[in-house]
Amino acid sequence: MIGEIRDSVSMQLALDAALSGQLVLTTIHAGNTFEVIPRIKELGGSTSHIASSLIGVVAQRLVRRLCSCKESRAIQSWELNLFKAIESPEPLTHIMDAVGCTKCNYTGFSGQIPVFEFWEKTIDGLRLKNGRAGFDNCQRGERSSVWYHRPYGILGKEHAMAGTIILLEDAEINRKIVSKFLQNLGFQVLEGANGEDGFELLEQCEADGIQVVAIVSDMLMPLVDGPTFVRDLRENVKYESLPIIFMTTATDKSFLLQAKNLKAGYILKPVDGSQLETQLRALTK
Ligand SMILES: [Zn+2]
Repeated sequence: MIGEIRDSVSMQLALDAALSGQLVLTTIHAGNTFEVIPRIKELGGSTSHIASSLIGVVAQRLVRRLCSCKESRAIQSWELNLFKAIESPEPLTHIMDAVGCTKCNYTGFSGQIPVFEFWEKTIDGLRLKNGRAGFDNCQRGERSSVWYHRPYGILGKEHAMAGTIILLEDAEINRKIVSKFLQNLGFQVLEGANGEDGFELLEQCEADGIQVVAIVSDMLMPLVDGPTFVRDLRENVKYESLPIIFMTTATDKSFLLQAKNLKAGYILKPVDGSQLETQLRALTK
């Protein structure tokens, strides 16, 4: 990991390390992903070294996030054209407009989200080296077989589509395992160790305008246990039908009944990834 490359000595070191097979991560100042190559050359990197060692470039920009006071309306055709380059799993029909309220000081915006541009080497760098494809072609927007360029979009769009899940479990190792399962399914996971953390995480999400799509919670936890947390939650109209799945080692029927009464799913520990997936798919439909 190299903080930032600003001089030819660091650049040479980075390229040498990459050529010897090390994974080198670094930042460099450039206007976009394509401009990274001329920038490396300026700092003394040779084309052949770039071709054989650079495996990808990610550029980041921060854009303003709409405040929760935003309003939805039908998208117009000229706007649809602006979104052409972005691959969307579903056709775009609506768009959000900034409105303004006391919370956002009437700006209509609250916070920022990062958008990323990817430029990834797919086959090999040989053609770039031979000058048959590369910077110029890519900048013209061609998709060469050597480099695959993806325009700005929200990183892990699939993840964003799947939404955020709150995971509550007091045993750290179990929490990490289940969290990994959920992340692999494409969810963003916010972790807590008991019901109290659950309330805090929900509040935080509400403040940040993040929609929680489900809660996966252990039953027996210190301070505020799973059923107590969910019972309180269900009293709020907003969370009346939020999908919830309990995880527990207890095979006792009373636990199953408690889960049922709270309109929650129920899976036994150790949690099986595919079982969790089946339940989540059924509940979040
Ligand atoms: Zn607002």
